[in-house]
Amino acid sequence: KAGIWAEVKAALGDVPHADDAATLKLKSRDFFWFSPILKPQLEHCRADLVVAPRNRDEVIRAAAVAARLRVPITVRAGGTGNYGQAVPLEGGMLLDVSALDRTLWVKPGAGRFEAGARLLDMDRGLFAEGQEVRLYPSTRKQATIGGLIAGGAGGAGSCSWGQISDPGAVLALQVVTVEESPRIVELRGPDVLKVLHAYGVNGVITETEIPLAPRHDWAERIVAFPDLAAAARFGQAFTEADGIAKRLVSIHEPRIPAAIKRLKPYAPDGAAIAILMVSEPQAEACEAIAAAHGGTVTFRRTAEAARAAAFDGHGAIAPLYEYTWNHTTLHMLKVDPTITYLQLRFPPGRNLDLVAWVGERFRDEIWLHLEFQRRFGRVTNSALPIVKFTSPERLYAIVDELNANEVAVSDPHSYALDDAGWKRVDSGAAQFKSLADPHGLMNPGKLRAWPPAEAAE
Ligand code: FAD
Repeated sequence: KAGIWAEVKAALGDVPHADDAATLKLKSRDFFWFSPILKPQLEHCRADLVVAPRNRDEVIRAAAVAARLRVPITVRAGGTGNYGQAVPLEGGMLLDVSALDRTLWVKPGAGRFEAGARLLDMDRGLFAEGQEVRLYPSTRKQATIGGLIAGGAGGAGSCSWGQISDPGAVLALQVVTVEESPRIVELRGPDVLKVLHAYGVNGVITETEIPLAPRHDWAERIVAFPDLAAAARFGQAFTEADGIAKRLVSIHEPRIPAAIKRLKPYAPDGAAIAILMVSEPQAEACEAIAAAHGGTVTFRRTAEAARAAAFDGHGAIAPLYEYTWNHTTLHMLKVDPTITYLQLRFPPGRNLDLVAWVGERFRDEIWLHLEFQRRFGRVTNSALPIVKFTSPERLYAIVDELNANEVAVSDPHSYALDDAGWKRVDSGAAQFKSLADPHGLMNPGKLRAWPPAEAAE
């Protein structure tokens, strides 16, 4: 084994690489430890070599070396994935693409960025242009646009723009294949689905072209409500108010702000809360809808102060989106390391009824926070509820019952791509893998059904 790595290093030449124990450990991890099921499965996985290309030519050199010497290659960017997506299950080369972070061009409504660009940095750069990224995960500070496309779903902005897999959310991707002579492939339109949410098993994304939105001054609000049902009704009504520009509608049942020290002051008397980002000139209109639903504003921050919190880390409380989506789990894990979480999707139209049912049925085991979003012209919510963890058996019994009652669960306790939308109808992802990764070296182990039975025979 040592011999092959000496050969790999010699072939890489001056492409930056490292194999000291500390770097290998640090870069071989992501946030899989949120899951008590994934933690013991993944915490011992280690890459053999971390390679950090500075540009596309160096990505091509690394990909060629991996293909020629048949070593596994796993792409990593911000390293904030929750399911061990970037963990090198079979060791090998870990390709850290975070230095590919340039903005290539920007025009009204669209921009092209290298895949390792961090979402917060992209917005810093776009500020002067009067534009902004349409959606970012709550990990905006560390997460990259390539990582969001290859491993994420949605976040702040989904209440207006939907999810990263929606038509038009990604305009084009440039991909480097893992072959002895790597090719550069440009995928446009629906073809991006071949690589989107493919956990980096279908080529190395080097460039991304995405739509941009006109920039708003996003003010922050926290509104307290007597209970979850009232807050959820407000969340639905406010998200449906198409005339109000909004970036975040996140609803938390009372037990969550009561447990999180930073939120507690804004949830007096055991209130449920709504955490909101709204266009500053329309904050008054937002507050009027909240008042009509029995809400009382407990926190106001101007757009300028909210931006200083996000861009410069100023302010007594972090940017509010850092309390929502899967950041809620992070804060709750600090309070109680034994909890875990699930990912739920509620069908539009029935979502509020089903939220009430989940709250009632699993009262002692599930604490709900709802992330409102627009899905193909309709408003619904997803949820990343805090779940009391007793055993894998009980967790999966809950999953089965939710699935049987129209609440669709995406399992965050599995690293297998097969469990997360691989072979989505008509995506062409499986066929593209044969072209982009003919030796099956990319992120091996993430696809249980690879190579396909017929090819393996
Ligand atoms: P990484 O973790 O580095 O990689 C993710 C996957 O993409 C891996 O499989 C990797 O191999 C692949 N990949 C990365 N870059 C490339 C590339 N250039 N080419 C090919 N494959 C590539 N997710 C959400 O969608 N919404 C949220 O609001 C959200 N909140 C979170 C909150 C917390 C506290 C945490 C820990 C995670 C959260 N996540 C969320 C998950 C994660 O932060 C996002 O999905 C993020 O976009 C991943 O980007 P990354 O750069 O960190 O990717």
